Amino acid sequence: MNKTIYFIANWKMNGNHNSIKEIERVFNFLKKNAIYKFKKIIFCPPVNLLSSFSEKIKSRLIDFGTQDISKINISNGPYTGQLSAKMLKETGANYVIIGHSEKRIIDEDFKTIKEKINIALKNKLKVIFCIGENLSQKNNGISLKVLKKQILSSLDKKKINFDNLIIAYEPIWSIGTGIVPSNSYLDKIYRNLKKFLKEKYKVNKPIMIYGGSVTTDNVATLREISLISGFLIGGASLKSASFIKIIKNYFR
Ligand code: PEP
Repeated sequence: MNKTIYFIANWKMNGNHNSIKEIERVFNFLKKNAIYKFKKIIFCPPVNLLSSFSEKIKSRLIDFGTQDISKINISNGPYTGQLSAKMLKETGANYVIIGHSEKRIIDEDFKTIKEKINIALKNKLKVIFCIGENLSQKNNGISLKVLKKQILSSLDKKKINFDNLIIAYEPIWSIGTGIVPSNSYLDKIYRNLKKFLKEKYKVNKPIMIYGGSVTTDNVATLREISLISGFLIGGASLKSASFIKIIKNYFR
């Protein structure tokens, strides 16, 4: 297997200046284990930690991302409380998470997500675009309909370069619950998404990852879905021990 596998740590509103130790441990592990060459490790800590962390860990082994950017499409200006894509890029981030279900609840509607994705790509940030259905949508059998709508309303056919876009399928009912979809459910979702992206965007090999309660125990099972090229990991990414074990168990 020689495709790139993504392990993306979404720290959400967690961590402090001491948490650099967790990233350093991951870094040391990667340095000693060159066999894990087909992988991409990305940490998305809260923005207050980003600059100092990326300053300290300047290495091609670990990349950094942010959990948000402003939808205001300029670099600087009179916009209280906003951080522009350019400013975030200057912190050392190369990636940004957009469309996460926890963010959609607060302030990201379809239009905002689309604007942010376009701004991020224009500023040379790679986008981790999250999509996912909630439990009642799943129970009503409309998961794929929901996911397709999220994609069509956010990805502008003329502006998206799929080399710089990672689609993270994160069923909302799986985030932080310990419940992971069955492989047959996931297989159906990813096959359909691949077909849909080919039809609508003419993309042959979209980068698609999975997020939602990924742990050291279930990563080997998730690995069996060949269309999954990695993981967005919340809780289990906060401690280096579990994050490293997830990587190890994947490649075992
Ligand atoms: C997430 O919120 O992106 C996530 C995957 O969280 P968790 O792994 O904690 O379910």
